[in-house]
Amino acid sequence: MPPHIESICAKETHDPRTTKPHILPLYATSSFAFENIDEGIEIFSNKKEGHGYSRYGNPTVDAVAAKIAALEAAGTGVEAAGMLFSSGQAAVSTMVMGLLKSGDKILTQGNLYGGTTELFVKIFQPFGIETILTDLHDLGKVEDLIKNDPTIKLLYLETPANPTLACVDIAALASIAKRHGRLSAVDNTFATPYLQQPLRHGVDFIVHSTTKFLNGHGNSIAGALVTSHTAQMRMGGSIWQAMKLAGTNCSPWEAWLVHNGMKTLAVRMERHCDNALRIAGFLEQNKHVERVNYCGLPSHPDHEIAKRQMSAFGGMLSFELAGGLEAGVKFMNNIKFCTLAPTLGDVDTLILHPASMSHLNISKAVRLANGITDGLIRLSVGIEHVDDIIGDLVQAMG
Ligand SMILES: *Cc1c(COP(=O)(O)O)cnc(C)c1O
Repeated sequence: MPPHIESICAKETHDPRTTKPHILPLYATSSFAFENIDEGIEIFSNKKEGHGYSRYGNPTVDAVAAKIAALEAAGTGVEAAGMLFSSGQAAVSTMVMGLLKSGDKILTQGNLYGGTTELFVKIFQPFGIETILTDLHDLGKVEDLIKNDPTIKLLYLETPANPTLACVDIAALASIAKRHGRLSAVDNTFATPYLQQPLRHGVDFIVHSTTKFLNGHGNSIAGALVTSHTAQMRMGGSIWQAMKLAGTNCSPWEAWLVHNGMKTLAVRMERHCDNALRIAGFLEQNKHVERVNYCGLPSHPDHEIAKRQMSAFGGMLSFELAGGLEAGVKFMNNIKFCTLAPTLGDVDTLILHPASMSHLNISKAVRLANGITDGLIRLSVGIEHVDDIIGDLVQAMG
């Protein structure tokens, strides 16, 4: 008997594939149908590779995670696995949940992405995972802290870091962690694997907010984790388990958008770097500007570290206007071509005045201790014609 109209509506259509799709299909499905009960049991008991339920794994998400792992591992000789999450914050939280337990400590720097510091202090601290902040430029101090405290399990770095583009020595810090049997992780969001590959320097885990340069087009929120500890990422591994149970998985749609964006990562990064270097050089010569923070400038205190571990210096910079808060606010109100937006890494130039925007609710003392002065402006340099960006900065300085 042929099905009734109600059944035709409700039933899934037959597999419409004819030939292999050229572009990664978007698997918008919460579950996967099993041929029979044995196949279901094999997949759920990790005996057979396959998908069952999209919180555990999804073909679109897995393909994009594998691509980010391939980018981080390219040419390093390291075998790596990747996972995608619902945000950069979800990638960091899942890593911590999968690796640490109550009584363990994280050693890190004071100038992390603000959300990461808050996550460590406000969420993980009450669960018994303490965070110690120190200056990671001081390698002797880092080694002393680690040597004398066996409960420090994770050394967590971010380089280059917001908003002063401070860089720390990945190879030296990873080797200290390794020497004492601890794990290391790097937030590689600002550099991307096109400019910096922490696996080359012996780092265990790499986290990304793919929301930024990896996507590049500002249309999705997602995060990634890449590691040489591949067993922890496979079905049944501790990080996979944390993702599955905390539900920090990435949606296939967000993953698909990241994938689309990543195809042009190499050409975008080339232009981001060229434009940022030109703008940094221009600002350094400008009379309205007191200081420029760009790790590609020889005047930057961490330029030598950046040169050793990055192939070019990225699209992020910040600069200090003469005239403090008042000059900063006036400048921001005069901006026409660049966009005032609290993200970074998009193809168009984004501008932020931390003292009046992202750090408005943070005490001035804390701000200043992290290099966020009243007149500091942060620029995420886009891939437009560089003269249009410079023209806007010049007219806004009046
Ligand atoms: C944005 C950002 C994060 C957080 O990522 P989300 O995708 O917003 O959760 C983490 N680290 C750095 C360096 C970032 O810029």
